[in-house]
Amino acid sequence: MSARRILIVEDEDHLARVVRLNLELDGFRVDVAPDGARARAALASDAFDLIVLDVMLPDADGMDLCRAMRARGDLTPVLMLTAMGETGDRIAGLQSGADDYLPKPFELAELRARVGALLRRARWAESKPPVAPETLRFGAAEVDFAAHEAWMDGQPVALTALELELLRYFADRPGRALSREQLLEDVWSVSGSNSTRTVDNFVMRLRRHFEPEPGQPRHFVSVRGVGYKFVGD
Ligand code: CA
Repeated sequence: MSARRILIVEDEDHLARVVRLNLELDGFRVDVAPDGARARAALASDAFDLIVLDVMLPDADGMDLCRAMRARGDLTPVLMLTAMGETGDRIAGLQSGADDYLPKPFELAELRARVGALLRRARWAESKPPVAPETLRFGAAEVDFAAHEAWMDGQPVALTALELELLRYFADRPGRALSREQLLEDVWSVSGSNSTRTVDNFVMRLRRHFEPEPGQPRHFVSVRGVGYKFVGD
């Protein structure tokens, strides 16, 4: 099997070099783009298995890059590097379509662990053996888990691997109240309650994809004091 490819989009030269070296030691083939223009060129000419994407670039906003990728149906996992401690930044990063975020400064061990987890999850989404149900219909939504395809009102919806996995988790447990902690642990493989906002953001993403009125959800319903439940038809 050829080495999996990672694109690092980072303008801080020293940081980019250290991250590159570490990921290369983990066996990845790594490219670095130091600005938005070169990131766009790399994405247009090559296929990557994962993108490590800095938010603050000299000529671009990493979130805009991520949004543009998702808008053209590119579902490559994105690990976003956000500004130090800016909660708003992290939430905005997830809303732009990133799969995970890491606030700067970070430990290299944590970056490597998160890269590994995102790639395992993406591979799982690609290679999961068929188990029933492979398709899901609710409201005007239709999802084919095996083909990794979804439609809303007959229009294709581009889902990231994580969005699809969360949807699958809900679909396998209709009508059951699921706590944010349980969702984090089972879908994100993260324990503890300090990242439960991540769950809220991904549920918001599913609502925007599949609810005719995301503000009045009928399928991804909040359960007060607990978390969420999925309601089919
Ligand atoms: Ca930067």
